[in-house]
Amino acid sequence: MRVLIADDTVLMRAMLSEQVASYGHEVILAKDGQEALDRARAEPFDIAIIDWEMPKLCGLEVCWHLRADPRTAYKYLILMTAHDDAFYEFKALDAGADDFIHKPVNAAHLKARLKAGGRITEMHRQLLEQAHTDPLTGAANRRFFLERAQEEIARSRRYGHPLSVLMTDIDHFKRINDTHGHAAGDEALKRFANLLRDDLRPSDLIGRYGGEEFVVLLPETELADAPAVAERLRAKVEGAELVHDGISFHMTVSIGVAAVDLRDGMIEAALNEADAALYRAKETGRNRVVIAE
Ligand code: GH3
Ligand code: MG
Ligand code: MG
Ligand code: MG
Repeated sequence: MRVLIADDTVLMRAMLSEQVASYGHEVILAKDGQEALDRARAEPFDIAIIDWEMPKLCGLEVCWHLRADPRTAYKYLILMTAHDDAFYEFKALDAGADDFIHKPVNAAHLKARLKAGGRITEMHRQLLEQAHTDPLTGAANRRFFLERAQEEIARSRRYGHPLSVLMTDIDHFKRINDTHGHAAGDEALKRFANLLRDDLRPSDLIGRYGGEEFVVLLPETELADAPAVAERLRAKVEGAELVHDGISFHMTVSIGVAAVDLRDGMIEAALNEADAALYRAKETGRNRVVIAE
């Protein structure tokens, strides 16, 4: 895990970071409340150990701010203070801390608290992953794809970088199901998603949009360059041999290509255009790439 440690004394930071690192965690250090917030927003972390008394912003304020920010709202926060009083514990939990630890910090207590935090963090990670992915193919589901695509577009707009989308749909997929059975259809979907992943860049975004329809967002890609990507993909799919129950079969895919309009900044128009192009690919014989007009 990545553990953020915020404390204003050099000695405390050194001691805590040595302990936390000795449990195999990565450490991010901050020397006051403001730095804790800045680092929490800039770097991914799982658990934060936050001193109560710190300059600029106190630990309570750091907790409030982290809880109010959607990026850090569900991080596991441990507040730390020398005050040995139930009132402080109540105040800490009320400000949004998940847990509370007394100074001087007892190593065994800290270890146990990190263990509890690690359990919650891991469960949260798993739940998020399940909420974001299509279980059959491992691709992003439609909702998560749209969410991530909108972030990607916002970034591209800031830097003026182009983006393109591919709308892909497996041809006569119903026939695969009808001829080879639903399990073979599922295999074909998994294979198709793997072909997409293997062929595209890690920064490209792949979403399962419908049954046998996948959408791809290509950041940093002009409309002039996107058809080549789509064509390479189309050829890979056509060339892939699928085997189910010892019987070999093939599939093909039709692809519509469109550019995201950076002035508009929304993905919907591009998806509609790519969809219209995909429709034309189907109409004109399938197993082909068509570029939006
Ligand atoms: P076209 O070339 O026009 O796209 O024809 P098609 O047969 O691919 O299109 P159609 O939309 O008529 O059929 C899609 C089929 O995909 C129908 C549906 O039963 C099947 N399907 C959707 N989701 C799944 C799935 O998760 N697993 C399997 N095996 N089949 C699925
Ligand atoms: Mg302090
Ligand atoms: Mg289809
Ligand atoms: Mg379809």
